[in-house]
Amino acid sequence: MITLKSKAEVACIEAACRIVGDILEFLEAKIKPGVTTLELDNLAGDYIGQRGAVSAFKGYKGFPANICTSVNDVIVHGIPGRQVLKDGDIISVDVGVKLNGYYGDAAITFPVGKISQEAKRLLAVAEGALYEGISKASADNRLYDISSAIQKYAESNGFSVVREFVGHGIGSKMHEDPQIPNFGEAGTGPRLKPGMVFAIEPMVNSGTYKAEVLEDGWTAVTKDRRLSAHFEHTIYIGEGGPEILTKWQKRNL
Ligand code: MG
Repeated sequence: MITLKSKAEVACIEAACRIVGDILEFLEAKIKPGVTTLELDNLAGDYIGQRGAVSAFKGYKGFPANICTSVNDVIVHGIPGRQVLKDGDIISVDVGVKLNGYYGDAAITFPVGKISQEAKRLLAVAEGALYEGISKASADNRLYDISSAIQKYAESNGFSVVREFVGHGIGSKMHEDPQIPNFGEAGTGPRLKPGMVFAIEPMVNSGTYKAEVLEDGWTAVTKDRRLSAHFEHTIYIGEGGPEILTKWQKRNL
């Protein structure tokens, strides 16, 4: 069941989302060649604590870190560790926090130093796909209008969309109904209503859409080991259309 949030609940979700957006902006300045993903995780953990929130990821089904750091061919759920970022890498940073019982969730894929033309285009298309999806998140549209817009945008630009991982409702739980695939048929699915809050999160690949999970049980990589990018916003469906609650803005378009 897709729950509708009251104004008060949306305000709580928005407060959590503001922290998520701020962390992503804070981390962007720290991402450069020579930094380890564990250093980013520690910085994020400190920042979350200073803001009086807790990581939504740490301990979730046993996930060991504050954030997910997914480098190059890693699609999502990369575990921070000893990996040293190098010039030309791309890194998806996914941040979820809980504040006063409510969740916010967002992700950006950042370039590390100077990246290839192919990587630049992937980032631009993945971020563009997110905004295409958000543009369909209006009352009276159907859920898979969002999915279809994401898929069409990514595929018409020569990329593929991941099937195994999807967006989700969010609120007093990190993952609520509905699941929001990044592929689907426009005009189908539940009707969207004011008060719904979604985390929309296209994962876009350079090559095959197929994924595989490594032995650690978390790290999801592209089957062909080509690049993958991931962008996510938590959004609210208002009377006047979608409102982005995680506040980072378009950067790669
Ligand atoms: Mg999410």
